[in-house]
Amino acid sequence: MTAEISPRYAGEARVCADCVGDPWLQKDMFTSGRDRRCAFCDRPGITWDVAELARRTDRVYRRVVGRYHDAEHWRRRREAQHPREIVETLLQCDTELADAVLSEMGGGDGANEPDEQYLITIPAASSHSEDWQGFCQSLESTSRFFNDQAARLLEDLLGSPPAEAVVTVGPGTEQPRLFRARLAVDPVEVAKMLADPAAQFAAPPPALRRAGRMNAAGIPVLYLACEEETALAELRPALGAEVVIAPLAPQRPLRLLDLSRLGDSKVAYFHPELALLEGRRRFLAEFGWQISRPVPPHQESIGYLPTQCVADYLANKASPRYDGVLYPSALRQRGRNIVLFAHALSVGADDPRFPLATKAVRLAGYHPEDPPEYVLCTGGAEQPGSSPSAATLLVLTEDLVVHSVSALAYTSAPTHVSKFDNPAAEVGDAATADLGLGL
Ligand SMILES: [Zn+2]
Repeated sequence: MTAEISPRYAGEARVCADCVGDPWLQKDMFTSGRDRRCAFCDRPGITWDVAELARRTDRVYRRVVGRYHDAEHWRRRREAQHPREIVETLLQCDTELADAVLSEMGGGDGANEPDEQYLITIPAASSHSEDWQGFCQSLESTSRFFNDQAARLLEDLLGSPPAEAVVTVGPGTEQPRLFRARLAVDPVEVAKMLADPAAQFAAPPPALRRAGRMNAAGIPVLYLACEEETALAELRPALGAEVVIAPLAPQRPLRLLDLSRLGDSKVAYFHPELALLEGRRRFLAEFGWQISRPVPPHQESIGYLPTQCVADYLANKASPRYDGVLYPSALRQRGRNIVLFAHALSVGADDPRFPLATKAVRLAGYHPEDPPEYVLCTGGAEQPGSSPSAATLLVLTEDLVVHSVSALAYTSAPTHVSKFDNPAAEVGDAATADLGLGL
């Protein structure tokens, strides 16, 4: 392989910290590198020689890279890579540099044969699973109040989430409006909701605040959806039900934690505590999924306790605090739900003439074939004392919608069944190993 590399990329060639992407490797280079011109980007910078970079890379490579074997790793066959691609991934560098580093790395023991395929397997070590289980058990059995240990655990887990998991919605973002849906038993109740949407689509009054995923009984939260269809699906309306949906426009940017992206942090292979970091990342990915999945009705009172503590931490103890959380809908594919916390859920109407009298709402249908239409007779003057500007969310009264549920659709996802010719594995082994799903 060495023969293919141009002489300027031999072991003594200089490579600068800007030509590698791994932040920990960069840090190391800045500490011990020399000011030279980089042979790869042709700019002056803090540099190592390629031989030094290859020595460091080799150390990480031997820790995390193993030969790909069809019989053993067939489930990961899409991840298999040639050594050059592996080095590109580890260093976060381009092909040219990866080639130069590889040609300097010790080979010969089959560790990086150019034509063979390899897999990256990051060792993982973490006590988060046990800590979290202990936390959940302590909630069920003893104190429901925050203790220091729980606070430390939540700070450790959620104190510095990956950048991808912190999301902003509201003015100037891709999500300028959110949706809340409510069931109505008859047209009279529909009229009540349409006449005073600010009150009707705000958080329920204290007496009606049942404990939920993100709130203990009595603590107000607002459950919203990012899409109108998701708001509708989340209500699980029965056939024939009337559903009123209000679009709500946040009046300031709302800072949310996206629970489905807690495990998205990018791996830095040169981190000195790689295994610990990976253990934490894997736990968070699973954790985000666990706390956003639906809890069966009979487990609600216990099942929601841990997430209530998480919500309390995010709303009151995280710094900066969050206005709410975002999580995938279990009832609509690609749908997203939002829970807003107590300090971010005041609701007003965008039109100062609201609330209207209930009788100002008329049901009109001019022809029997046309769908009926609700008409809001606003006519009157502004309501005294109305100050919509103080609210965090404004109901967009132009766009209130009433849905009559006429059909329900079930969606299921097919799981593809494929054959894989693997004579080395016993049928029974494959079935048990893979149905275990590694959970
Ligand atoms: Zn460079």
